[in-house]
Amino acid sequence: MDLKKYVTIVEDFPKPGISFKDITTLMDNGEAFKYATDQIVQYAREKKIDIVVGPEARGFIIGCPVAYSLGVGFAPVRKEGKLPRETIKVEYGLEYGKDALTIHKDAIKPGQRVLITDDLLATGGTIEATIKLVEQLGGEVAGIAFLIELSYLEGRKRLEGYDILALIKY
Ligand code: 5GP
Repeated sequence: MDLKKYVTIVEDFPKPGISFKDITTLMDNGEAFKYATDQIVQYAREKKIDIVVGPEARGFIIGCPVAYSLGVGFAPVRKEGKLPRETIKVEYGLEYGKDALTIHKDAIKPGQRVLITDDLLATGGTIEATIKLVEQLGGEVAGIAFLIELSYLEGRKRLEGYDILALIKY
């Protein structure tokens, strides 16, 4: 299935000059969403995943159906102040300023094989921070799966040494 045709390009969103890849038109198509999910499930089976981890908010949308299908758990990575119990935190740079991602301290058991999911790989900053969180808890990042990779931003370089699946490339 050609998944790319289900992605809608929205020019100048959220700011002038940005060509936004809108995945909602892929998600609201049952066949396309199932096909994409099944591809990631197959990849995760090969990697013998114990748990799926995804950053808010679109990492949840991709990761949860994969976790359900595998019969494994899902651990959310969230912006600071959102998770109710003890967390660890990693700060990461944005275009302007800094942000922080957190995960519950007991979300991953040492040695667990983790699949990280998100909708889109751009510069790789979000996933780099997510990897740090997983590794600080003793998890092993066995694979990283995206719907979309913006190859021209070279986020893959930042994630060197990790196994990456991207279903759609620009
Ligand atoms: P990065 O940290 O790799 O630079 O940015 C990736 C993050 O920004 C992802 O979590 C993704 O949800 C969001 N993002 C950036 N650009 C786009 C886009 O064009 N479309 C969508 N759906 N998400 C984007």
